[in-house]
Amino acid sequence: RIILAIETSCDETSVAVIRNGKQILSNVVSSQIDIHERFGGVVPEIASRKHVESITVIMEQALKESGLTLNDISAIAVTQGPGLVGALLVGIVAAKTLAMALDIPLIGTHHIAGHIYANELVAEMEYPCMALVVSGGHTELVLLESEGSFRMVGRTRDDAVGEAYDKVARALHLPYPGGPYIDRLASEAEEAIPLPRAWLEADSYDFSFSGLKSAVLAVINQTKMKGLELNEAALARGFQESVIEVLVTKALRAVKQFGAKQLLLCGGVAANRGLRASLQAKCEANQVPLLIPPLSLCTDNAAMIGAAANLKLKRGQYSGLDLKADPGLSLEEWSVGS
Ligand code: ATP
Ligand code: MG
Ligand code: FE
Repeated sequence: RIILAIETSCDETSVAVIRNGKQILSNVVSSQIDIHERFGGVVPEIASRKHVESITVIMEQALKESGLTLNDISAIAVTQGPGLVGALLVGIVAAKTLAMALDIPLIGTHHIAGHIYANELVAEMEYPCMALVVSGGHTELVLLESEGSFRMVGRTRDDAVGEAYDKVARALHLPYPGGPYIDRLASEAEEAIPLPRAWLEADSYDFSFSGLKSAVLAVINQTKMKGLELNEAALARGFQESVIEVLVTKALRAVKQFGAKQLLLCGGVAANRGLRASLQAKCEANQVPLLIPPLSLCTDNAAMIGAAANLKLKRGQYSGLDLKADPGLSLEEWSVGS
C-alpha cells in the first residue's frame, strides 16, 4: 500500500510518500516561518496563498524523491482538520483532484492522529498506550486502547503549551516562534523564579496555562515598576519548570491509571530539551517505555498524515469526494470503526 499524503493545516506545505504506513519514501516540508515571523504569528490569509504557490512544486518533488510515479500510488491522504480552514482547503482541493484523476481512494485525516502516529514511523506502538500531545494548538492526553481508537483523557482548558511559550517569549521580546528561545534561556539559568503550578482538581488530567502566563507577566511588570533589572533566564527557567512538572506528573499518572504499556510524546513542543530530559528520567524511574519521534517528525509534516491514514486504508474506510475541511474535527470521532 503506497499512500501519497498532503499536509497544509497551518504554515507548512508538506507532501510525503509512505509505504504500508511505516516506511517513508519521501517527506518534503516547506515552512513559511520566515514569512510569518515578522508578524509575530501565522497570518491565515498569507498561509493559504503560500500553500497555493507551493503545493504543486512540493508534490512533484516528493514524487521524484520517492522514485515512484503517480501510477504506483494506492490512495491519497490529506489533513481534513483541525487547522486554518483556508489552509486546509488548499490541500483538500489538491487531494481530491489527484484521487479523482487517478481513481483511487481519498482519506481525510485528523492532524493530531498524525502527530500521534508519527511514532509508528520509527517504532512499534503497543496498546493500550498513552499519548502526550504538546503543540502550538494542542495540549492533550490521549488514550489509545487499540490501534486507531482515540479517547481524550485530558486537555487544556485555555492556552496550548506551545502557545504559552510563544506568548511568554513575546513578553520577553524574543522572536517568533519563541518556544526554542525560552528553552535555551532556561537551560542557561542559574536559578529559577518560583511560579505557580496549575494542578486543577486532584483527579483531573486537564491542563491550564493562562494563569502561569499571567504570573510571568506580573513578574515582568513588577520588576519594571520597581526599576529593577529582570533576570530573564531565571524567569524562563521558572516558567519552563512549572510547565514541565505539571505535564510530566499528569502524563505518568495517566499511564498508571489506564495501564498504558507506552508513553508517546508528540507535537512541536516535543522539541523542548527540558521536557524530553524530565520525561526520560521519570519514565526510566517508573519503567515506562517512552517513545519520542525525531524532531523532523514532531513538527508538522505529511509523513505522519500518511501513517495515520494507513489505519483507515487498511480497513477500507475512505472519504467521499465531497470531503470538507473541518477546523474543529474531533479526534475521538475520527477513530477507526471496530
Ligand atoms: P497544532 O499541531 O496544534 O495545530 P502546530 O502544528 O502549529 O500546532 P507544532 O508545529 O507542532 O504546532 O509546534 C509549534 C510550537 O512548538 C510552537 O508554539 C513553538 O514555539 C513550539 N516549540 C518548538 N520548539 C520548542 C521548544 N524547544 N520548546 C518549547 N516549545 C517549542
Ligand atoms: Mg507549524
Ligand atoms: Fe501540528
